[in-house]
Amino acid sequence: MTSKESISIFWHRRDLRIFDNVGLYHSLLESNQVIPIFIYDIDIINSLSKQDARLHFINERIEHLSASYSKFGGGILTFSGKPIDVFKKLKEEFNIGAIYTNKDYEPYAKERDLEIEKFCKENNIHFKSYKDQVIFEASEIKTDTDKVYSVYTPYSRKWITKFEDSKIEVVNAEKYLSNKLYPINTSPLSLEEIGFQKSVISFPKENTSDEIIKNYKEKRDYPGIEGTSRLGIHLRFGTISIRELAKKAVGISETFLKELVWREFYMMLLDSFPHIAYTSYKKEYENIEWRNSIDEFETWKNGQTGYPIVDAGMRQLNTTGYMHNRVRMITASFLVKHLLIDWKWGERYFAEKLLDFELASNVGGWQWAAGSGFDAAPYFRIFNPTTQSEKFDPKALYIRQYVKEIGTFNYPKPIVDHKFARNRCLDAFNKALKK
Ligand code: FAD
Repeated sequence: MTSKESISIFWHRRDLRIFDNVGLYHSLLESNQVIPIFIYDIDIINSLSKQDARLHFINERIEHLSASYSKFGGGILTFSGKPIDVFKKLKEEFNIGAIYTNKDYEPYAKERDLEIEKFCKENNIHFKSYKDQVIFEASEIKTDTDKVYSVYTPYSRKWITKFEDSKIEVVNAEKYLSNKLYPINTSPLSLEEIGFQKSVISFPKENTSDEIIKNYKEKRDYPGIEGTSRLGIHLRFGTISIRELAKKAVGISETFLKELVWREFYMMLLDSFPHIAYTSYKKEYENIEWRNSIDEFETWKNGQTGYPIVDAGMRQLNTTGYMHNRVRMITASFLVKHLLIDWKWGERYFAEKLLDFELASNVGGWQWAAGSGFDAAPYFRIFNPTTQSEKFDPKALYIRQYVKEIGTFNYPKPIVDHKFARNRCLDAFNKALKK
């Protein structure tokens, strides 16, 4: 496959769709021929388990994209390697005029993109990246003194006002696919070709009924009922458009819209303070003397703590790749406060297991649980897992789904007494924070 006619590359990353894909739309409008590509970045995939469900999901979605592009005479080129090496190889084969992509705000991605941009500059290739995965970037929602918000409520107020005032458009890239795609006859790499296997976990659908959004406010806090959208994985990999979803939510549920704002709040924070990915935002929280018991960490991971709501949550995570938001808060709080295990350990475990793992939201959620982040609940507010389950799972519908042996001798005794753990936690936090 060689071509000396100038072509553009569209590089798919966390935007595995055609509809309302901003970068793709621009590449089609501005080029004569476009080659969509996807790179299995070995710096990322080499750290994953061989049955990682997210990789299976990505692979399936690339098959869908390939089928959609082939209807217009094109396809998608897929590679496994380091992005810089892939682009060097592509440059040998094609006369590349421009590389189009959508922005990614994670620290690793920003570094990677700088390297590609530099390569482009050295080779007279345009590098164009677009805002796509968020509605507003960090620079667009600032305080009146031009600072980044560190508290959610005023941020969300400004976000919603700006959203209502702006005319957010969706773009229909599909309309421009005809005659624009470079003909590609090769199939995308299979999972096996990149050294992975299918996962047994099933993926939530990307469609959300108006019903879910309409009843979201009343139902979202109860893990025993299907009251949330399960759209996390689709937002993570861009198989739905955030603009389309937010526009839909506006007329139906402000509560739902506000959750989408949480997502952007955390993304904005990670973009502005990349170090929060691996260290506490409030520095003094780094002084906490964690117990970090490996045995207790294993017990928590395996859902064997003897606290049914915690165990149900961990078992849901391990078997489905999902955990309800209320239960994420309870299990995270339990690890950090009852067991005094560093929030970073829990964050990494969720990162390994969650289908919807999103670095910004995960770090945000964990630092919220530890009290070390932004807009934190005070550290002395410690969830009592028993009262939480009485309130949010009163009939134990959720617990019974995952902790079948509850009430039998097979179910373990609580790993630690709540009152004792609470006092131990307060001592450790007070000491570190010198209160
Ligand atoms: P819904 O409740 O239907 O909400 C719709 C979408 O809004 C979600 O898919 C998500 O994109 C966004 N959203 C909702 N709540 C939040 C929130 N609190 N913070 C940020 N975005 C939100 N969310 C992730 O997407 N990835 C993570 O890795 C992640 N890790 C978390 C870790 C902890 C410790 C906690 C407490 C929360 C975490 N969350 C994370 C936030 C939240 O739990 C999930 O977004 C939500 O449970 C996903 O389920 P859903 O798709 O049914 O969401």
